[in-house]
Amino acid sequence: EAITVQELAQRMAEKAPAVIKALMGMGVMATINQTLDQDTAQLVVEEFGHKVKRVSEADVEEGLIGDEDDAGDLRSRAPVVTVMGHVDHGKTSLLDALRKTDVVAGEAGGITQHIGAYQVQLGDGNKITFLDTPGHEAFTQMRQRGAGVTDIVVLVVAADDGIMPQTVEAINHAKAAEVPIIVAINKIDKPGADPTRVRNELLQHELVVEAMGGDIQDVEVSALQGTNLDKLEEAILLQSELLELKANPDRNADGVVIEAKLERGRGPVASLLVRRGTLKVGDVFVAGAEWGRVRALVDERGQQLKSAGPAQPVEVLGLQGTPSAGDDFAVVENEARAREIHEYRQEKLRSKRTTAAPASLESMFSAIREKQATEFPIVVKGDVQGSVEAIVSSLEKIGNEDIRARVLHAAVGGITESDVTLAAASEAIILGFNVRANKQARDAAEQNGVAIQYYAVIYDLIDDMRELMAGQLAPEV
Ligand code: GDP
Repeated sequence: EAITVQELAQRMAEKAPAVIKALMGMGVMATINQTLDQDTAQLVVEEFGHKVKRVSEADVEEGLIGDEDDAGDLRSRAPVVTVMGHVDHGKTSLLDALRKTDVVAGEAGGITQHIGAYQVQLGDGNKITFLDTPGHEAFTQMRQRGAGVTDIVVLVVAADDGIMPQTVEAINHAKAAEVPIIVAINKIDKPGADPTRVRNELLQHELVVEAMGGDIQDVEVSALQGTNLDKLEEAILLQSELLELKANPDRNADGVVIEAKLERGRGPVASLLVRRGTLKVGDVFVAGAEWGRVRALVDERGQQLKSAGPAQPVEVLGLQGTPSAGDDFAVVENEARAREIHEYRQEKLRSKRTTAAPASLESMFSAIREKQATEFPIVVKGDVQGSVEAIVSSLEKIGNEDIRARVLHAAVGGITESDVTLAAASEAIILGFNVRANKQARDAAEQNGVAIQYYAVIYDLIDDMRELMAGQLAPEV
């Protein structure tokens, strides 16, 4: 969409002549009623030191994000935890076992409904929210959509199996998101259990547990027998104290869609996790490109609620359409506003669908350069361990004081959707050495504009990366 100089000035709360002057400085001669394209408008906005946001978007979404809360209004809130780890190491079993530690279970019949997350209340009154879709796919997909809802990752490692490829993936996904990890060494009831081996293997991934002088908490558990679940919960609460998690409960709610579906007889149903504020029956809200009015709130115990506060997961009825997992939601002042945002975002979705294209290495890099990033994030996949290691150590040597490579994840194997979601969430590129991307990965790369480069010669790969990073050094003209 185009915008006139006058409108642009108004939206920035600047004087029109100042905008015209700024345009002149950029070599653009404009009058007050002249329309500017989006790119030019964005340059002007940046020139004035305002937020880098498409102006039309800023207009529609302003007020949605709202002001920062005053420190005095903040109250501590429950941590939000995601369980990750290798397949069969016991993620689902652990989530089931933790669910049973809820002390209000007795009165209300327990946590029975699957709404994508549940909150347990502990004996001392503390609460912990668990996202009950385990795995790093869901975690990273949420993050990619801008929804960094997880405060703490519980990494499940089976004591009889040790660190496996998906454990490493999970570690790297959590690290890329800068979310602290607590290790649950599971299956300690098994005869072959060797927790010490797990701790040693963790060292190789720079996770140093407390017993070895580091600051990563680890807890030996058995999901099957319910051993040490209280210790795990204590570790989570300790970590959450360190994080000083707080939110203002007394404001319009916003947060994230964790699941959404169309249900026969109930219409569109979404599970929401409130980030801050309190969501109430009757509130008008937008969720992604959809909107609704809260008709009912239902918790994981199947009970109807009047309201839901920070870190509380809740199922909401009353949406007009079905949003996507990872979409944000926010309460707005009235229905007209909700419809306006809904229409704007629907339009944006339509245009995005027709313009999506795979990104090139150069375009990814120039995006990074635009942000003046100092790190160039890379995911490396290769056919054998030796070449992956050689590539990583070479990548770590190139770069300069302005920018250097940051290898988010490096592993043996073909390029999968998980690699693409990780790359997309961190705006990284993917380098394939003698391996290819599978169909799902290619589709995901296309949808998300992630660049995948294939190489058969290590020298070529390093040369390309060195050249890209040297471009960063080129004097500006
Ligand atoms: P996920 O793939 O990580 O979700 O793993 P599951 O929770 O499905 O568990 C995989 C298998 O390990 C199942 O057969 C579980 O019964 C078993 N399992 C999970 N936790 C334990 C445990 O603490 N001890 C033992 N002995 N078995 C477990």
